[in-house]
Amino acid sequence: MPAHDPLPPLAGLPRAHLDWRSDDGGMSAPHSSAFDDVYFSRHDGRAETEHVFLEANRLPERFRAWPEGRPFVIGETGFGTGLNMLCAWACFDAHAPDHARLHLVSTELYPLERRDLARALEAWPDLAGRAAALLAQWPEPVSGVHRLWLDKRVTLDLHFGDTTERLRCLDGRVDAWFLDGFAPARNPDMWQPTLFAAMAARSRPGATFATFTCAGVVKRGLAAAGFAWRKVPGFGRKREMLAGEILDPPADERRRATPWFTPPAPCPGQRVAVIGGGIAGTSVAAALARRGVPVTLIDREAPGAGASGNRQGMLYVKLAAETNDQSRCYLAGLLHSRRWLDALDPDGTLWHPCGVLQLATGPREAKRQARFLDNHPLPESVVRAISSAQASQLAGIPVESDGLEYPLAGWVRPDALCRRLAATPGVTLQRGEVHDITATPEGWRLSMTVDEGASELEADQVVIATASLANGFAQTAELPLQPVRGQVSSLTLPEGAPAPNRVICAGGYVSPPLEGQLTFGATFRPNETDARVSDADHRTNRDELTRTLPGYAAALEASGASLDATTLEGRAAVRAASPDKTPYAGPVPDAAAWREAYAVLAKDATRIPDIAGQHHPGLWISTAHGSRGLASAPLCAEVIASRICDEPMPLEAPLVDHLHPGRRLIRDLIRGG
Ligand code: SAM
Repeated sequence: MPAHDPLPPLAGLPRAHLDWRSDDGGMSAPHSSAFDDVYFSRHDGRAETEHVFLEANRLPERFRAWPEGRPFVIGETGFGTGLNMLCAWACFDAHAPDHARLHLVSTELYPLERRDLARALEAWPDLAGRAAALLAQWPEPVSGVHRLWLDKRVTLDLHFGDTTERLRCLDGRVDAWFLDGFAPARNPDMWQPTLFAAMAARSRPGATFATFTCAGVVKRGLAAAGFAWRKVPGFGRKREMLAGEILDPPADERRRATPWFTPPAPCPGQRVAVIGGGIAGTSVAAALARRGVPVTLIDREAPGAGASGNRQGMLYVKLAAETNDQSRCYLAGLLHSRRWLDALDPDGTLWHPCGVLQLATGPREAKRQARFLDNHPLPESVVRAISSAQASQLAGIPVESDGLEYPLAGWVRPDALCRRLAATPGVTLQRGEVHDITATPEGWRLSMTVDEGASELEADQVVIATASLANGFAQTAELPLQPVRGQVSSLTLPEGAPAPNRVICAGGYVSPPLEGQLTFGATFRPNETDARVSDADHRTNRDELTRTLPGYAAALEASGASLDATTLEGRAAVRAASPDKTPYAGPVPDAAAWREAYAVLAKDATRIPDIAGQHHPGLWISTAHGSRGLASAPLCAEVIASRICDEPMPLEAPLVDHLHPGRRLIRDLIRGG
């Protein structure tokens, strides 16, 4: 039995085809030309939403009584204009106590263009503030999960793709369903038994649903999936609609094939210690703190002291020619980081979304890029082919090669970003070098050295984010990790010297200057741990720059800049890589328990024991971000924080598994290792 349905190709989505129709009172509302149906009632869409979805799910009373802890989760089929979700958010604000949080999950196969969304939502002036938050983060039309932070307490996960397919790969459970989507007669493909079965399998016990329709196919499908339904008065001219609940939802069948990845039960204790103040650790600390979880962030020096301490770091990805889960994670990570940075630092003091050009400096890479584009029909706003002439024009310097442009990518100030994240309210900084973590009856004891003295800290949960040192603890010793030395070089640009206004990468990269300094690099030396700057690495960086951009290197020298290795400045640091080059993000497996539980797999990989994977309770890890941590670490932080806080995950279930720190261990056990 496969662990999961195969994920669909990584691709752009079709846009909604709309026309605008007015009622007698002149209100103009969106109508789908493809489905010949309305997005919401032209008479009173708002009142209809409140009656059908909010009242029938008893949201005001449930919000009022919502306890502390995990968020209330609403699942919706068909996001459309977002009216239902914005109304649910307004209802939550009106009724929920301050401690409560709301998590919205909605699917959409035909996302509206931003301008259509804006026009549709103009009809509700009192939702204008909420609509603005949605519009500001409205994602690119790319299949996958897009997480938006609507405000401090409200998160929206847009699952772009077909509803049933998306719900089948949802890693999370829902408290109340808005069963929307065009009428069953106009959209029969969606209202299938598989949809109701997927909803049931992603429901919390007692989850409710409400829908505007009373069609037989819906009643039968819901009942067959385990939902009890009843007819209740409909809105306006509709006499009846359906509402109901599921008391005993089915178990997660996907785990039968991969019991080892079963997530650990949520830990009751919520004081979290994060070890490591680089981008991985600071982004986890900030993700937890914004959920109200108190965090102690421990670093032996200061936030951003290690590999994340460079003045400039590239926010970019390199995607495989054939779609694989690693590329899915990285593209999701790039889009996520972009939205996250926009929200964190709208003025752009910490980053610059200038775009990245990925050059094909030889025929092999040119072929690879062509195959990539053929296999991935992504929107041009995400990635597109460019000629050397276009590249030269975009970059403002001579570029001799064709390549790809990633308009949403750019560069970041990782040192400043780490400091900003570490200053998130709720994060307490603690200097210290942790050398042991020990399980106690209450949680964990961290033993550390501070200024040559010994110190201890108690925590309920621990996140290890110490790059190549992350497997230095007894509990993580079996995690395969490789240190990788990397050095960047920089020079002060003479007055009038040419400089790129895009990040350009091939074997290495060069970025637009920051405060008159041009930075390029970086070297990539596996298994080297010396963090001293070397002339040899400067020469490597200079040679790479000259090979990638010969015309620019010549123009630089002509302007008086020196590329002599002995005059270059730089910074070296040690990063971490996994053998498969995917980060590790998730719970730390109890390797001894896995060996015992899954020993039989070495003899017969089909005899999968019905035993959930044991993890060190409350112990988590985020590492192996290599040189692409700006694209991967913030999303991995959400993966960990979402799991700790028992929320829906920000990635499809197969991708959450792909990041699992136990993936190598189980692979080796199956191979008899
Ligand atoms: N809930 C919406 C709102 O508040 O504006 C209105 C939803 S509209 C009536 C139905 C939505 O379902 C449309 O946006 C349509 O594109 C979407 N849809 C239709 N079939 C779908 C499918 N198979 N998967 C995902 N979305 C689908």
